[in-house]
Amino acid sequence: MSVPLTKKSTDHSNLAVFSFSFYCDICGKEWKSKSVPFESDGFSIIEHEETRRLIWAKERDVEFEKANLEAHLFFNLCPKCGKRVCDACFNYNQNSEDERCADCCASGDASCDASCDASCDASCGIKNR
Ligand SMILES: [Zn+2]
Ligand SMILES: [Zn+2]
Repeated sequence: MSVPLTKKSTDHSNLAVFSFSFYCDICGKEWKSKSVPFESDGFSIIEHEETRRLIWAKERDVEFEKANLEAHLFFNLCPKCGKRVCDACFNYNQNSEDERCADCCASGDASCDASCDASCDASCGIKNR
């Protein structure tokens, strides 16, 4: 099974549905995957508890992989530190090609745009913290 995309993730899955949450590495903003019902076609004829558990676990892994992939759409990868962060915590630097997360921006990086401080307005995630 793959490593969760973000540092923190939650498995909400139960015997009826599969669902997972991922959280921004900086602010903890949650993205929750769609709930997917556990396919119960032919499920009732499986009376062997162990078999049922194995099938469930296998499906859970498949659904986790899907959710983990979909999470890429919601969390940006900081090229500097490798954190996965939500849009609000990601600084699209207008003046250069540099993109980085709010944490890297705040760490006094000399190459960071000068507007990335407390007075920063629109694009930088710092003020949203
Ligand atoms: Zn965030
Ligand atoms: Zn970073």
